[in-house]
Formats: sequence, structure tokens, C-alpha cells
Amino acid sequence: MENLESYYQSRFAARTRRIQASTIREILKLTQEPGFISFAGGLPAADLFPTQRIAEATQRILLEHGPQALQYSTTEGYPPLREWIASRMPGASPENVQIVSGSQQGLDLFGKVFIDPGSKVLVEAPTYLGALSAFNPYEPRYISVSMDEEGLRLDELEAALEAHRPRFMYVLPTFQNPSGRLMGLERRKAIVELARKYQTPILEDDAYAELYFSGQPLPTLYALDQALGGGNVVYLSTTSKTLAPGLRVAWVVGPKPVIQKIVYAKQGADLHSPTLNQMLVYELVRDEGWYRAQIERIRQAYQTRCNWMLSALQKYMPEDMGWIVPQGGMFFWLTAPEGLDSLELLKQAIEEKMAFVPGQPFFADGSGKNTLRLSYSSATREQIEEGLRRLGRAAHRMLGR
Ligand code: PMP
Repeated sequence: MENLESYYQSRFAARTRRIQASTIREILKLTQEPGFISFAGGLPAADLFPTQRIAEATQRILLEHGPQALQYSTTEGYPPLREWIASRMPGASPENVQIVSGSQQGLDLFGKVFIDPGSKVLVEAPTYLGALSAFNPYEPRYISVSMDEEGLRLDELEAALEAHRPRFMYVLPTFQNPSGRLMGLERRKAIVELARKYQTPILEDDAYAELYFSGQPLPTLYALDQALGGGNVVYLSTTSKTLAPGLRVAWVVGPKPVIQKIVYAKQGADLHSPTLNQMLVYELVRDEGWYRAQIERIRQAYQTRCNWMLSALQKYMPEDMGWIVPQGGMFFWLTAPEGLDSLELLKQAIEEKMAFVPGQPFFADGSGKNTLRLSYSSATREQIEEGLRRLGRAAHRMLGR
């Protein structure tokens, strides 16, 4: 037992080669110091958690249904909550709904059920980094398809589907993490049709579904697929961005054979999601007026913070820095001039006591070196103003201006 590192290295499963600490997380650890302004985190705003309401509802549940709330429960999830979710999804019944411990667990279970070593998985470029972390241990081969302002490029997507026949495609049509993009209605329809044509199931990650700043929400890929007969989209969403991420309550909605496999996989993972938390979420969302108002508070706060960030970007960024103006969600996605490495920019920004996430890790194909993500969801006006001033200084310095 001299050297524990090598003792265990020779015993770990081969797949752990793809479970690595991220260099960026290591760098970002530096940003915990006082005086630092970080837009790296991507945390929902804690000042908008309905803490008082959660305290009251928890007490009510424990006093009225304590033994049930604290007991083991079924893997599929708390029936009234599954019913509420099904009622919001066209064509779904509670048997199509599986409650999971965060949509992150949904991604892991989906990977476990669908990916063999070497299986091809089609992803957007960029895509949600946490999904790559969830899928990686199952050893997929990623097929990355690039995006324009509207989302996945259809010509490239069709060519990739035809050439690779992937096991599934993972798509984030609404306020994508990291790029904040909103996929338009025509693009949504075309993607659902292409997926059906090439018989490739879609995993739709809709974590930001409720965070529209204005206008009518667009139909989900799940709904559009239902209109064509259904069965080809598995849908994932969560309470993390509307109530509180610490509750770890989310859901998968999909065709019965898929849900059945996910139920069995979840049994082996954690038996079921916390009973008390599921009952609590149901207690909160069933008061529709309150739930709508809660979402409205979040939307307004994020829109305000987004506007502050947009003005600060316009004021402080070099002329050739580009960005997507979000219509909802939590992120700005910036594209620097070709040749500017955002990891180098991060090092410069850290000198200025400011941080963001470089974009490259969000690309399964290793591209995107000149991109970066800024999160405004938890920032104050002063932090946004000062943070972007610092980023502007770092960027100008790097570009030699
Ligand atoms: N999907 C996306 C796109 C996300 O941004 C996140 C959270 N960062 C998750 C899934 C995981 O969320 P949770 O596990 O809290 O539901």
C-alpha cells in the first residue's frame, strides 16, 4: 500500500479513463477568492428560491403524511406528480413518465440504456458539457453537427444521419446550455421529420423550457413528434431552474419501452428519487396561480440581468467580439475573433479577478477554441458592469489593442 495512486490505478475500470477532472474546474477553483467576479457558474439565482413556501409545504407534508413522505416509494415516482407532468405533455399518460434525481440522472440512465462502447451519438456543437460527462463512461463515439443562429444545420444533420445512423441524437432546442440559442419552429419541425426519416430517436433536453423572457413558448420536439404519430422523442426536464436545484427532482417522458428500461436502470442506481422532495414539488406546482407567478418572477429577473449584461458587452467588448442575444435562459455565448484562445483569455481575466467558462469543452469534437460562456442568472448589476469592464480590459490586451 506504498503508493495508493498506482495501487488503485491498476484496479479502476478501463472506462474511468474517460472520467477525468476538468482542467477548467481546477482553474475556476481560484475564483472563490474575495473580490472575484465570476460568470462561470451557471447557478440559478438563489434569491429567487421560494424558501418560505418550501418551508411551509414541507412542514404540512410531514405533519399530514409523515410516514409516507419518509418511507421508500416506487421507482417510477410519486403518482400525482407523474400525472401532473403527463397532463402537460401532449399524448402522454403517467406510464410515460419517470421521475429522476435531477435531469443529470436522466442523462446518465439514458446513456446506460442506449450506449455501447463505440456507439455513435449525434450531438450539437456545442452541447451541454454535463451530458458529455454523463455519456462518456459508456464510451460513445460522438458525431458533432454544427449550428447556425437557429440551431442544428439541416444539411449537415441529414448528411450525418445518413452516413452514421447514430443510436440517438441529443438536442437542446430551448435556450441551449451553453449557447443560449432558441431553435425556431421550422427548424424544430424539420429536425423531428429528419429524425423519423432516419429512424434515429431524439433525446430532447428541455431544462430551460420555462425561461422565455417574452412571447409564446414554441412547441417541444416531443409535441411535434406526437403530431406525427409519436414514439421517437424522449423528453427531459427539471424543477432545477424553476423551483430549486437542490431538490433534485426532474423527469423523463418517453415511449413505454424506453421508460421501462430506465425504470430498471434507476432501480439499480438509487431505487427511487426522494419521496419527500417529490411530494413537496407536487404540493408547490399544484397551486397553479402561485407556480405561474414564481416562474414569472424568475423570467423578469433573468431578463433584467440579461439586459444589463447586453449593455455592458456593448460598452466594453472589442468590436470584433460577437454574441447571441438570448431570448430566455441564463447564458450569453461569445465568439471571439478566430485565433483568440479563450483559455488564454481566461488566464488574463483571472489576473483581473474575473472569470467565465471557455467554450471548447462544450464541443465534443474539440473545436470552439475562440468561444466562451457568461452566465448572468446570479449576478448583480454592479458585478455585471465591473466584471465586463475587466473582461474588456483582458480581451483588448490579448488582441494587442
Ligand atoms: N441539462 C441541462 C441543459 C442543464 O443545463 C442542466 C443543469 N446545468 C442539467 C441538464 C442538469 O440539471 P438537473 O440535474 O439539476 O436537473
